[in-house]
Amino acid sequence: MELLAAAGFSTAVDLLEHFPKRYEDRRRFDAFPNEASPHAVCLRGAVIDASLKYSGPGRRFYEALIMDGSGGVFGSGKITCRWFNMPYIQKLLATGHEVSIYGKVKESNGRLIIDHPEFEILRDEDEASIHLERIVPIYKNISGIAQRRLREIIHQLLEQTDPATLAVIYDLAPASPRAEAFKVIHFPGSLDSAQAARRRFALEEFFLLQLNVVWRRTRYAEQNGRVLGQNTAFLKQFYSSLPFDLTGAQKRSIKEILADMRTARPMNRLLQGDVGAGKTFVAMAAMLLAIGSGCQAALMAPTQILAEQHYLTFRRWLEPLGIRVALRTGNRDEGSHPATEGDPQIIIGTHALLYDSVSFRDLGLVIIDEQHKFGVAQRAALIRQGTVPDVLVMTATPIPRTLTMTIYGDLDVSLLDEKPPGRGKIITAMRVAPKQTDVTKFVKEQLASGRQAYLVYPLVEESETLKAESATEAFEKWTKRLCSHEVGLIHGKLRPEEKEAVMRRFREGQTAALVATTVIEVGVDVPNASVMILHHAERFGLAQLHQLRGRIGRGGHKSYCVLLTDGKNPEALEKLRVLEQSSDGFEIAEADLRLRGPGDVLGTVQSGLSDLRFADFLADTPLLREARAMADQVLAEDPHLDSIHQNLRGMIHDSGHVAALPSTA
Ligand code: ADP
Ligand code: MG
Repeated sequence: MELLAAAGFSTAVDLLEHFPKRYEDRRRFDAFPNEASPHAVCLRGAVIDASLKYSGPGRRFYEALIMDGSGGVFGSGKITCRWFNMPYIQKLLATGHEVSIYGKVKESNGRLIIDHPEFEILRDEDEASIHLERIVPIYKNISGIAQRRLREIIHQLLEQTDPATLAVIYDLAPASPRAEAFKVIHFPGSLDSAQAARRRFALEEFFLLQLNVVWRRTRYAEQNGRVLGQNTAFLKQFYSSLPFDLTGAQKRSIKEILADMRTARPMNRLLQGDVGAGKTFVAMAAMLLAIGSGCQAALMAPTQILAEQHYLTFRRWLEPLGIRVALRTGNRDEGSHPATEGDPQIIIGTHALLYDSVSFRDLGLVIIDEQHKFGVAQRAALIRQGTVPDVLVMTATPIPRTLTMTIYGDLDVSLLDEKPPGRGKIITAMRVAPKQTDVTKFVKEQLASGRQAYLVYPLVEESETLKAESATEAFEKWTKRLCSHEVGLIHGKLRPEEKEAVMRRFREGQTAALVATTVIEVGVDVPNASVMILHHAERFGLAQLHQLRGRIGRGGHKSYCVLLTDGKNPEALEKLRVLEQSSDGFEIAEADLRLRGPGDVLGTVQSGLSDLRFADFLADTPLLREARAMADQVLAEDPHLDSIHQNLRGMIHDSGHVAALPSTA
């Protein structure tokens, strides 16, 4: 039991929640194969020879020859099993043992071989036990405990544990209670019933996640918001000042936002749109509706550069309408902008807005740009500043709908699924270790035709210093290569006003090429920049590459995104090929999820999905939908969860996570 405790299992429930990773149907084993196969097989046989072999100086492996013995009838089949660098195997397995083995068969020099099979020694008395003649659970190893032993312990626990311990406060399926599902998942009568039991636990897990989300949404909606947006005069003026029409998706989103603002229930909405979809104008429209009602509106950007850029954009469009816009960030205040003295109507800043003692006169609307850079807690902090303002969160991370339902599940969603017309095409091409002269030549040609270029470098080490250095070195090289053109350099180590100056020169066209780290990843908008050379592209994540690429293709020019890579890693090539083939953010996000999994894609804290114990986020999508419907129903019938035990409420809290199930053991 010490071994169990060391592995983190302290209660019966803990151990019972160690679900089988697979099952072996030991009522019928597979036939001994006569050729290699890509699928694992489960065989029963007897060890007829076993010995330690040498494969080179100091290198040895243990080899066992297994002879067909399924069902006691010995056939003629034979298979060789090998274990490399696992000397302890020879203490476990010897000639004469009857075994079950599990693994993939390959063929080598006319022999059929399974390397590193999972195996279990069968005993004579097993016929009527939990180890044979039934569907047997196989667990992920707990260090130091044999499968047989673990199976016995779990079997015993199932017999001894009071079903009440295994029940939860809210049982999804009272007809087939949870305690029963535990029995089935460990010792199923059929593989189908095992599947059903697993789905049941996955559903339960999703249900708690969704209950949490829906609960937060309900609480939010119960607060007193304000009624805004009756006065549309500013909005109308704004529309007529625009040199283009808004896209259908932009108009639809603005309508949805307006409808929210006009109710007393506080708005809590997500505006989701791929890079370049035109979220900024939707934000502007929302802000105009808010200030039309006499209150202030704030926009929070994740970086200084972006805040600065939004500030310029907003002033450009809104000052002609007589609207006062202010910039407030941690590093400077609005005082340095003489145009914005007095009482601002629109305040733009970074998340420093959260911690500054900035007091808003009357904050009616908060817009949070690029939400994926913010945590849920930060969102909550800003919201606390005012009297429950309306909140609009904007994200350029196009995640699949089911994921939205989980991470942003407490928000209503508006989708910008249409791009403004007149965008030049982006051609994306991967180049494996090309000659530098070719790359330079290409960039020069593009600059000569009047375009601008981003030359992007990855974070080389964790440390910002090293990252800055690598971009700095590249900057010197590029300055020489592009002699007649001005080259700029931007990275995270620059002071905010330095960054701002560099961006301004680039935006205004004095700088032809900009050597940059990922500080330009989000939101930077320079339509004349149509070339992006991504160095060491394999080191970036897919979503990040897509975001970076979104910096080009913003004007009418044909744009080029070149992914440079050393080509050493096949997985990286696969990743980069996704970008060559697709420019659809949703498609790319799905590929990213497939390649890396949701925890990695969204960050552990953000997603809360890395904690999933029973459910497989991608495979169990339909269950997630079902869980959402159930949660909606439960809360509709009982908005305060009064009828459900206190403990359930304890599991639901603001962090967005579901706490562990109550362990009554
Ligand atoms: P994002 O969704 O990535 O934040 P932006 O709001 O920065 O996108 O818009 C990207 C570019 O498209 C900007 O240059 C903006 O001026 C332009 N734009 C936005 N909406 C339209 C539209 N309806 N028609 C033409 N251009 C637009
Ligand atoms: Mg944007």
